[in-house]
Amino acid sequence: MDVIEVLPQLHMLRFPVGQAYLWRDGDALTLIDGGTAGSGPRIAEAVTALGLRPSDVRRIVLTHFHEDHLDGAVEFAALSGAPVLAHRADAPFVRGEAPGPPPVFEDWELPIFAEVATVLPPRPAHPGYPGEVHELDGGEVLDFGDGARVIRAPGHTDGSIALHLPYHGVLFTGDAVAASPVDGRVMLGVFNVDGKQALASFRELAALESDVACFGHGAPVTEHASAALCASANRYPRLEVER
Ligand SMILES: [Zn+2]
Ligand SMILES: [Zn+2]
Repeated sequence: MDVIEVLPQLHMLRFPVGQAYLWRDGDALTLIDGGTAGSGPRIAEAVTALGLRPSDVRRIVLTHFHEDHLDGAVEFAALSGAPVLAHRADAPFVRGEAPGPPPVFEDWELPIFAEVATVLPPRPAHPGYPGEVHELDGGEVLDFGDGARVIRAPGHTDGSIALHLPYHGVLFTGDAVAASPVDGRVMLGVFNVDGKQALASFRELAALESDVACFGHGAPVTEHASAALCASANRYPRLEVER
């Protein structure tokens, strides 16, 4: 795992597949996503390296239920006792009640998915978070980052959310948006359950004022993020989208 300082109060934890983020308000931390199985103890190490304890993590916010965001978060929840928050539509899959709907793959995504599958560690025998999931609807303002707004961003999964910290100009997109591993270009996230809806969500996130954008995969944009997201979103064909 690599720990990368994005801002003095924001660190990115980069795992072999996926990324998590630690936001710091004084001695209180918020974890956004948790990486694949096996990442929980690595997150605890990153917290300790910041001079804090796992119990200083006040909440774990999941952008969606996919295993590269969930499994490490479940481990870290057990280590820290931090509550787990996720959107209502993804909560049953976060709890492991069902595997969750698979993506509708574009043809060009299939070889990428096959490659990712070779890197993913085995999942736990009974994946999912066994405790209470604090269910979000979107529109809430969470008590970190001077007010973190929960933005519904369906399409990658039905319960995908983003977090927008207007005071700091920071946006966490989950997998609604990504940065290309090849050239760092901002792009629509891959492996979506509904590509049209995902593109509509991408456009909505691009319209938010943000300087810094943090993705589930790929390097963050650290300046003029809104412009970078808008420029990327505008390269996709205009689609009529029913929401
Ligand atoms: Zn995902
Ligand atoms: Zn992901």
